[in-house]
Amino acid sequence: MKKELKIYLASPRGFCAGVKRAIDIVEKSISKYGSPVYVRHEIVHNKQVVEELKKKGAIFVDELSDVKDNSRPVIFSAHGVPKSVPEEAKLKNLSFVDATCPLVSKVHRESEQLNKNGYDILLIGHKNHPEVIGTMGQLRKDSIKLVETKSDAESLNVEDFKKPLAYITQTTLSVDDTAEIIDILKRKFPKIKGPIKEDICYATTNRQSAVKKIASKCDIFFIVGSRNSSNSVRLVEVAKKAGCNKSLLMHSEKDIPYNEIEKSSVIGISSGASAPEKLVQELLNSIKKDRKVSLEEVIVAEEKVVFKLPKELN
Ligand code: SF4
Repeated sequence: MKKELKIYLASPRGFCAGVKRAIDIVEKSISKYGSPVYVRHEIVHNKQVVEELKKKGAIFVDELSDVKDNSRPVIFSAHGVPKSVPEEAKLKNLSFVDATCPLVSKVHRESEQLNKNGYDILLIGHKNHPEVIGTMGQLRKDSIKLVETKSDAESLNVEDFKKPLAYITQTTLSVDDTAEIIDILKRKFPKIKGPIKEDICYATTNRQSAVKKIASKCDIFFIVGSRNSSNSVRLVEVAKKAGCNKSLLMHSEKDIPYNEIEKSSVIGISSGASAPEKLVQELLNSIKKDRKVSLEEVIVAEEKVVFKLPKELN
């Protein structure tokens, strides 16, 4: 007889509105312009999504210089691009479709506005993440400085900033860790200006809240998502901090630790904003082969956000 297993399924989980829009943009571009279409960088950070789109006619490249046929359109990924990228595309006469998530574009516009209003800007985020490269690339190098950690914030020198100071953030950070960094900045620079509406997006916040609600009840927590997906990696950290030490990223079916599942009586599952629901269902189905599962979905928010497609694809 199969042993009983309780599974808490976090909700919301998986695809956010920005990811859905970006995938839609690639699919609609292939329908409208035919294949191939080029995509600069992984459209969203998920291997399965990328592989599916390759089958449909997308060619993924790292840089515009890798585009072999300049008559084909190029799509920019959901993470956003530095200003230099559309400029380069125009110089090369490439037609392009921008799949930058509107919530990332909001941060880009904020940075421009602050710069125009004479602020020095601190960007809280992770070095080398494409979104951070894109946001920093909206401005001249000396107008924006990256703050990655609490110790980065502590080590900032008040005398180094002659202009008024403002901060913006990456959209997929840990809500709690970022709040700690902001507290330090506010202590050191009491007049620092923050965004009117916070930059960490609704999808990141909701997925973290759902994980937090469940984690302490679980023996093991699985976050379905890719290793290079910032918001998925953050969810693993959030689950650990919220009380489930054994929290793991489920990158592929090969990762499923059946021996750990065998020892568990309560499991939590969620998925990052770029992970297809199909992968969550596959994980559930493989667990159900050996265990008698009682499933409870824990819903902390209803998401109704939908972003419009760029007008050239409407
Ligand atoms: S995680 Fe947030 S910012 Fe990133 S694509 Fe999704 S909605 Fe947009």
